[in-house]
Amino acid sequence: MEKDTNNIYLVDRKPRKCPCCGGKVVPILYGEPSSEAFEKADRGEIVLGGCIIFADMPEYQCTGCGAQFRKPIIYRNPEDVLKPKR
Ligand SMILES: [Zn+2]
Repeated sequence: MEKDTNNIYLVDRKPRKCPCCGGKVVPILYGEPSSEAFEKADRGEIVLGGCIIFADMPEYQCTGCGAQFRKPIIYRNPEDVLKPKR
């Protein structure tokens, strides 16, 4: 399986189980967690990723070994990305 420079696995969709340890893979929730999110994290249904968000963050994490997964970034229009902000 392909890995990016941060050792994050590149996946097209959420893996059913971790390719390293066979553990459960859950979505990572970013931003200010709600009380519901804390309960889900307690149950191991999601991982709380914190409030800092950047472009190539992993979307999923293994609850067994901590391996992370994300989708490859596809820019539909590269000119939009390269255009300087005004
Ligand atoms: Zn794992």
